[in-house]
Amino acid sequence: MQKHGIELLPATITFCNHLIILKMKILIITALLTISTTSCAQETPKVKHVKKKTETNLKGVKVVNTEDPVCHMKTAEFLKDTAVYKGKTYGFCSAHCKSEFKKNPQKYEK
Ligand SMILES: [Zn+2]
Repeated sequence: MQKHGIELLPATITFCNHLIILKMKILIITALLTISTTSCAQETPKVKHVKKKTETNLKGVKVVNTEDPVCHMKTAEFLKDTAVYKGKTYGFCSAHCKSEFKKNPQKYEK
């Protein structure tokens, strides 16, 4: 009887180990999936990253407006796009505001 008990114990441990290994595998797979999903999510805005570089470059650009004429954000901090209108460089926080300005420049002109 005692022998049985001793023999059974390692079997249970091995079984448990298998379960742990399985759980570890699932964890690793989940982690890998999360990483690949995250890297995928990071890959999508890569185009935006290029735009961000332009954004930093634009920070030195002198614009006639201190505020985005469309949304009134500070162009010094949020300058992402510029448009030249009547020889003046206007700064915008986004391409969206720039296109809004271009639709009706007279409305926003300074
Ligand atoms: Zn704006």
